[in-house]
Amino acid sequence: MEQIGFIGLGIMGRGMVANVQKTLPAVTVWNRTASRTQEFVAQGAQAAASPAELAAQSDVILICVSDTPDVEAVILGPKGVLSGIQPGTLVVDHSTISPRATRELAARLAEKGATFLDAPVSGGSEGAAKGTLSIMVGGEATDVERARPVFEAYGKTITHVGPVGSGQMVKLVNQILVVINELAVCEGLLFAQAGGLNLEKTLAAVTGGAAGSWMLANRGPQMIARDWRPGFTIDLQQKDLRLVLEAADEFGLPLIATSMVFHMYRALQSQGLGSEGNHALVKALEHMAGLQLGTDRPDGS
Ligand code: NAP
Repeated sequence: MEQIGFIGLGIMGRGMVANVQKTLPAVTVWNRTASRTQEFVAQGAQAAASPAELAAQSDVILICVSDTPDVEAVILGPKGVLSGIQPGTLVVDHSTISPRATRELAARLAEKGATFLDAPVSGGSEGAAKGTLSIMVGGEATDVERARPVFEAYGKTITHVGPVGSGQMVKLVNQILVVINELAVCEGLLFAQAGGLNLEKTLAAVTGGAAGSWMLANRGPQMIARDWRPGFTIDLQQKDLRLVLEAADEFGLPLIATSMVFHMYRALQSQGLGSEGNHALVKALEHMAGLQLGTDRPDGS
């Protein structure tokens, strides 16, 4: 049985590791804020003192941290994965980061005899906790098969999409679809509010039809309840759109709706809302419209 090491116990990593612990015995964890390892140690995991120590003990290393510089820090930094890794180790990055930096990291690991998969995920904190994530994987087919037992612990749809870097590219496609759909949910619900409709009944009526979507079903009710707790933060969503727009700029591709949402998120960050859930996008529209979802209902409900 391969020894598994997991780096990054944030909103996503926590759910993923909890599912790994249900199906696979040996897992070592490391997190920058060490106290977050305690609940997993209580369930039988080992805590490493550094990414290098974790790498020295692991055959398959999984990473889920925030942004490109953070993945670079845990792999290339002092006491990073690279300084402890053994030849033959497989490194899997579940974070959403730059496709270009991904290819460079894979090359650095190859110099040490290690292989690499970029395997960003979709499905939110709910998917990580329920083990139903979609995983889009770039790399060699043999490495995908090697990682599959771990992926199956928290993933429902595992798609090998091409060589290293293409997992991140597909994830960026996913993010274009997510945010434009989210904007549609915001506009639809604000229209309902302005027209005096009952928002819960409106959601119930449209969620199962052609307009239905994950975003509508999961974040629509949160918007109505004005529950801004994050499954995915505005800061991370804005980071993903930056990655999309950087790549689009390289291609010379105009992405009008995506850039608009990028700047709406930037405005919300400027108002100090970066740690709220990405569905707080509706606040940018509320500000323009001069009305709020879920309050001041014309029917008084
Ligand atoms: P999160 O809750 O903010 O957690 C971030 C994790 O990264 C924490 O464990 C944090 O450690 C660690 N970290 C950040 N910078 C670091 C650094 N420089 N060195 C070491 N560790 C560092 O984020 P998340 O929601 O789990 O997201 C993680 C990744 O998954 C991101 O790339 C995100 O885009 C992607 N993702 C998220 C979702 C979602 O719905 N949440 C969905 C799909 C993909 P500390 O505990 O010390 O802060």
